[in-house]
Amino acid sequence: MGRKTTSPDIHLNLNVRGLKQSATLAINEKSAQMIREGHQVYRLGLGQSPFPVPQPVVDELRANAHQKDYLPVRGLPALREAVAGYHRRLHGIERSAGDVLVGPGSKELMFILQLVYYGDLLIPTPSWVSYAPQAKIVGRQIHWVSTRPDNDWRLMPDELDRLCRDDRRRPRILILNYPSNPTGDSYTIDELKALARVARKYKVILLSDEIYGELHHRGQHVSIARFYPEGTIISGGLSKWCGAGGWRLGTFVFPPCMRWLLEAMATVASETYTSTSAPIQYAAVRAFSGGMEMEQYLAQSRRVLRHLGRHVWRRLKTAGATVSGPVGGFYLFPDFTPLRERLAARGIRDSAALADVLLQETGVAGLPGVQFGRPPEELTLRLAYVDFDGARALMAAQQVPLGKELDKAFLELYCPNVIRAVDAMAKWLTR
Ligand code: GLU
Repeated sequence: MGRKTTSPDIHLNLNVRGLKQSATLAINEKSAQMIREGHQVYRLGLGQSPFPVPQPVVDELRANAHQKDYLPVRGLPALREAVAGYHRRLHGIERSAGDVLVGPGSKELMFILQLVYYGDLLIPTPSWVSYAPQAKIVGRQIHWVSTRPDNDWRLMPDELDRLCRDDRRRPRILILNYPSNPTGDSYTIDELKALARVARKYKVILLSDEIYGELHHRGQHVSIARFYPEGTIISGGLSKWCGAGGWRLGTFVFPPCMRWLLEAMATVASETYTSTSAPIQYAAVRAFSGGMEMEQYLAQSRRVLRHLGRHVWRRLKTAGATVSGPVGGFYLFPDFTPLRERLAARGIRDSAALADVLLQETGVAGLPGVQFGRPPEELTLRLAYVDFDGARALMAAQQVPLGKELDKAFLELYCPNVIRAVDAMAKWLTR
């Protein structure tokens, strides 16, 4: 008899054992692999901006390729100043450079926040795939705050109140993300005010993930920090509105009274990533400084996303899904429960099977609702309508007078994979 072998994973930290690679990155790698093997794949899995980094920002990166020194842990002073100025200009929120922390992606900053702050994590369901695993890795208690489909899964103040009222003084962080990943929906000003009131009542720290704010399809994003300035940290970065996910640059903007938290995070940053890439930070100054070119780029990006999002939304509704209309960003979160019987007849009884079979039979890559904290048997799916050449689409949109619709012919020409993907899905669903 040989010695009993034990699996090496018993040596893994318990908080990490059993965790898999993040679903967004896994579907991206799987899609790329399938394409290399010769399959047709519509890449609606990873939420990556289809648009190029604006030219002035690229030029600035080129001009700063020689920047080689380690930068200050909290970020390049000129960038921290530009980020504060950006929030002042856009949202009327008075912050100084000292309130800004720059990091290699807002995802990393969120992780460090959870590490340094000893409190529970509240996340509305559905929410982005990485909030909960991060909390699990650092050993924080997670509470999914329930939402209702008839509210389009927006967090309602009474739900938050219900969760906080039993233990009023418990330290908590609530992550609010809007325009939402995964639903593409957003909040009205009144809803933000009401949520701010409850957060203030229980002194909940609000981490407002506004990474899609600039991609509000009508340019009407409002930060909740306006209504709860003393308790809100605004999370943002270049990944979505500036098309620069791979550049890895994120920002946190704190209220002045939370300098202690910023400092604790900076300490951890100094012992882990040291500082964010220098050339990227120099280039980011240009992005956050705004100006005509950035405005035009954003106006056209929003326009393409608005028309494309509405087209996909309508098509999904016609195919029988329940889905709320797109307001910002580039996601939709259809619920195929109305087609449950038809899908069950094909062996599809949960969102994981739905995503798997859909990919195998139509080539459409999406992510199952279960990854966003929805019950496994709910037939929800996140679709990122980003599989198109954004540079080409932006150039073509510029030729169509503002105010005129980017019609079906435009979308078929410039976003063909998204149109084909949703057509293939609709056919597959009604087969
Ligand atoms: N936020 C993007 C998504 O939800 C991708 C980046 C990531 O998950 O790290 O697909």
